[in-house]
Amino acid sequence: MIGRAVLVPMMLALSGPAIAQAPLPFVLKAVGPGVYAAIDGPEHKSGSNAGFVIGDDGVLVVDAFFYPDATKALVGEIRRLTPLPIRYVVNTHYHADHTGGDQVLRDAGAVIIAHKNVRGWVRTNNINLFGDRITPEIRARIVALPLPDITTDTDLVVWLGSRKVVVKTVLGHTGGDLTIAVPDAKVLFTGDMLWRKVPPNLIDGSVKEWAATDADFAAIPGAAQTTYVPGHGDVANVTDVADFRTYLLDLKRLVTAGRKAGLKDDALATDVMPKLRALHPDWTISDRAAAAEIRYMNEELAGTKQRPVPKAD
Ligand SMILES: [Zn+2]
Repeated sequence: MIGRAVLVPMMLALSGPAIAQAPLPFVLKAVGPGVYAAIDGPEHKSGSNAGFVIGDDGVLVVDAFFYPDATKALVGEIRRLTPLPIRYVVNTHYHADHTGGDQVLRDAGAVIIAHKNVRGWVRTNNINLFGDRITPEIRARIVALPLPDITTDTDLVVWLGSRKVVVKTVLGHTGGDLTIAVPDAKVLFTGDMLWRKVPPNLIDGSVKEWAATDADFAAIPGAAQTTYVPGHGDVANVTDVADFRTYLLDLKRLVTAGRKAGLKDDALATDVMPKLRALHPDWTISDRAAAAEIRYMNEELAGTKQRPVPKAD
């Protein structure tokens, strides 16, 4: 029998030199063979979710986080899992919480693929996205964000050797969104077309189009067996897709009813917020997020909603 006094130092010796490793700013989850979701933690050290697909001859990354340090940690995880080159990053949309680390991926060898409208919006409309939370440092980062190398306004297939990755254009969130599917693994990266148990950012959105896209997500072949990787929140299934769509429709219904009762501004928010929370008790809904989405929903219903306008190349 080996005594505890001997065993503990042996175990320490086996575990290698005591170099403190910083915990990852995301949780890496295998969601299929060679397909990984990088899920932002409760402290939001990454800014959004991301992921990657390892094919026969290279790696395709989905989204780049907001914080470049998180992106560097993602590159480190890819390097730990495969020696294959990082060939592509597909941005699901222009928002900086998904494009902020693009330069890190480009430096690692990736070609940046995005919707056609992202080139015109990534360095300008992200300033609006931050609103009163913008700082000189964030502004400087936004105006220096890399522009995508390959843009599309139609569906694309990217081949990683024999592995097929399907990139599709979808409507509802910004007017320039892509989803990324890995058919052989039944995985769909939805970007911000899906949020799991947290309220979506409607700043650029159309709830009408968005709910229709989520209905399509729930109706894809093999939906019950599909893993959906949302833009924010944990890895999801088709029930989560339905739950998110119900949330959007509840928001629309409650704001419509408040408007009919003559409520506006703070009174509308005060009326809708507790009803929305009561319908979705397992969601984390901050006052700030709820107030913003009620305001944006009201603007959409009033026909005054501003959405990003595509710019000429
Ligand atoms: Zn996002």
